[in-house]
Amino acid sequence: MEWRRERIGREKDEEEKLREGLERLQLKKRAEDRWRWTHDSEGRYGVKNAYDFLAPIECVLDKQWSKLIWCKLVPSKVSFFGWRLSLDRLPTKWNIRKQGVPLQEEELKCVLCKDKVEEVNHLFSMCKEAWIFWVEVLQWWGMVTVLPNNVLSVADIFVNDLGRIIGKEMGACIFLVATWYLWYWRNGEVFNNGKNIRGRLMEMVQAKSFFWIKNKIHGCVFSFHEWKIKPVECALSVRKYKQMQKLFHKQQKGRGTTQSLERYVAFLLIARQK
Ligand SMILES: [Zn+2]
Repeated sequence: MEWRRERIGREKDEEEKLREGLERLQLKKRAEDRWRWTHDSEGRYGVKNAYDFLAPIECVLDKQWSKLIWCKLVPSKVSFFGWRLSLDRLPTKWNIRKQGVPLQEEELKCVLCKDKVEEVNHLFSMCKEAWIFWVEVLQWWGMVTVLPNNVLSVADIFVNDLGRIIGKEMGACIFLVATWYLWYWRNGEVFNNGKNIRGRLMEMVQAKSFFWIKNKIHGCVFSFHEWKIKPVECALSVRKYKQMQKLFHKQQKGRGTTQSLERYVAFLLIARQK
């Protein structure tokens, strides 16, 4: 290899590595070039193995959050929001000040309670106004519980406690929708002073979660009214439907046949009757 100038410092190591890498390489004539993901034994890239590779790095989520954020029932913008929430990267007033915006003590106050400093655990858990909202959400699911003092533990209530009954994914979905609207409400108070979001908040949580779930799982047969008054039953029907779907695909795989849409529908109808 010819170089225009001498390598300096770490460039020497890099050059050495490059040479080592090239020495082991056997170029094949007529073979197409292709990309190879080196963190997978077969060279195939997958979100999961990329995630496993990144997991030891500090800024990547711990297991509990990652489960929550990869919830398939919500749109990706909500997952992204959850990801920022988990890393404390939402522009709360506290975070804005940390980034160097000169906010005075008074300006740091939470817009919902107008009392304490707005930081992530206050806004999504400790705030007395947010607390009333969480109680409403939990009541909708027939739950009464003591609210913890940090947002991760609030998530735990939905994913693990409620999730034990309705499934972790559905629990994560409800938590994400609720935090999404809590943030929406907070932004409404900050940017459109006087816009009445609070009065419609629960209705928005119920309507949006209904809409998103219906969109993702086409086999949902419950109405919005049912979703509002008996959400646990509706969630269980989704869970059952998904289990049936899984079972069907497993059976089809076992038989080695191609999936037929008619058989699939018939199978689901029978399963639902049972
Ligand atoms: Zn507050």
